[in-house]
Amino acid sequence: MRFSKLYAPTLKDAPADAEVVSHKLLVRAGMIRKLTSGIYTYLPMGLRSLEKVKTIVREEMERAGAQEIFMPTVQPADLWKETGRWDFYGKELLRFEDRHGRGYCLGPTHEEVVTDLLRGEVRSYRQLPLNVYQIQTKFRDEIRPRFGLMRGREFMMKDGYSFDRDDAGADESYHAMYEAYKRIFTRLGVKFRPVEADSGSIGGSFSHEFMVLADTGEDTIAVCQSCDYAANVEKAEVKGDFAPCTESCAAMEEVATPDKHTVEEVAEFLGVPLSAIVKTLLFNVDGEPVAALVRGDRELNEIKLKNYLNADEEPELASPEQVQEWTGAPVGFAGPVGLKQVKRIIADSELMAANDYVAGANKADTHVLHLDLARDANVEAFIDLRMITDADPCPHCGGALELPKGIEVGHVFKLGTKYSKSMNATFLDENGREQVMIMGCYGIGVSRVVASCIEQNHDDDGICFPPPVAPYDATVLCLDPRKEDILGKAEEIEKMMEGWGMSVLLDDRQERPGIKFKDADLIGLPMQVVVGGKGLKNGIVEVKDRRTGEKTELSLENLETELK
Ligand code: ATP
Ligand code: MG
Ligand code: MG
Ligand code: MG
Repeated sequence: MRFSKLYAPTLKDAPADAEVVSHKLLVRAGMIRKLTSGIYTYLPMGLRSLEKVKTIVREEMERAGAQEIFMPTVQPADLWKETGRWDFYGKELLRFEDRHGRGYCLGPTHEEVVTDLLRGEVRSYRQLPLNVYQIQTKFRDEIRPRFGLMRGREFMMKDGYSFDRDDAGADESYHAMYEAYKRIFTRLGVKFRPVEADSGSIGGSFSHEFMVLADTGEDTIAVCQSCDYAANVEKAEVKGDFAPCTESCAAMEEVATPDKHTVEEVAEFLGVPLSAIVKTLLFNVDGEPVAALVRGDRELNEIKLKNYLNADEEPELASPEQVQEWTGAPVGFAGPVGLKQVKRIIADSELMAANDYVAGANKADTHVLHLDLARDANVEAFIDLRMITDADPCPHCGGALELPKGIEVGHVFKLGTKYSKSMNATFLDENGREQVMIMGCYGIGVSRVVASCIEQNHDDDGICFPPPVAPYDATVLCLDPRKEDILGKAEEIEKMMEGWGMSVLLDDRQERPGIKFKDADLIGLPMQVVVGGKGLKNGIVEVKDRRTGEKTELSLENLETELK
């Protein structure tokens, strides 16, 4: 490929809204462009990286016995009503109507569609197990799309679904996918870690997340230093691994019963300025601080407010609109709210910089009011975090825990019968008895993977692509394309390398060498071959390894043996 013909507009500066390095570099390297909030176009090089990830994912899915299908993006509301998720899923589900007034959504995930596909047609135990997957655009109307490809609204996901006759079979399918995921992320060349996870709004009985370790990750993982325990802190709290410890930590008990404390005392305990803590509390019409209960009633459309300073009082009732008016913050009902959502809500409503404090605030099985949880989270979650660090509760061995950040790139769930039961996906077993299929579902954020690779592999000059994800294997920099002999030699080298099966980007642009070197480092292809007049005179080219920065001079004669 010739750079002069390639649509890859590189930029000196990152866009103002780019906070994390992968977002900055993907835009600067001319790989993606934003259309609107959370929605991106992939330019040729960005698309090549995405395709490389897809290829690895496909190969490993097929190897593990999964079959590729392609389901529609537009899904009818009726299917979602069968499982109850039409009401439950909340605002992330983008809904619309057709000209006949029928309801639809853009698929954020495909459990309903895939279960509908099989039910009625898979009738016999002989047709099971089945494992199907697709690689497709998903749409989730994320409350706060950000970080470029990491948290988009429209993004690329591999989603797979397994159907088994019985529990043992379902466990086998789950295990096969778990192993396939390990192979995928190993092949992609990222440092990752599978962790125990909460099953969020997908539901189901157990699950693991695959985390790429990076400081910019939105998840916190509890990793034991002594045994192999690793869990998303979200999950650790829900499961009760980090249940409140009132005995060993008196300070926690203090804040766990906040009704006895003034706002000033709470602020002091948390070590945050009064202005911060006051912002996290609700005020009533008289300007007195009140804390919201974590339960709202969707049907009654009312919120029970509990007096923060006097827990014995009967809760007052207020409408979401009133609360919104009082607090000036967004209010809405949600299904089980994930920790990250809480963080984003806090960030959205410009509350205190609470991101570090909210670990463990997820109450997965209650319907919670966004605002309530967000407010409460500032206080409760801080306590949880302290508990983890203070108490060292590796739940398995009592060893010390580390709390690194991670990016969730994959998620495997054992669903059980959650969808097959409500949608009546049954089959006849060996004895002619009707049984419900046991399901699993398995997701990989293909576009998020591209971003996570960059989060882990970059330096001050730009991207240092792991070879399996790089848009091209190498770039040949022709320092003076106006000189025919130099361009000719560069082309010869390009052809030779392509002959070895490598993909090559030939920088034949009429630009100064300085610009070519800078762009080559920015784009971050693994190998740079520099072809210039001076070198050619001496019969050599310079080869640079982008990741190590190591430069070697190779003689033209030996190029083939040295480079191949
Ligand atoms: P998150 O916790 O980051 O919101 P999730 O748990 O909601 O993700 P899943 O339902 O498990 O996501 O979807 C499977 C995979 O899709 C995730 O593991 C992640 O890699 C990817 N993914 C989810 N949401 C997004 C998004 N908004 N942008 C890019 N990738 C995403
Ligand atoms: Mg999510
Ligand atoms: Mg998640
Ligand atoms: Mg998930």
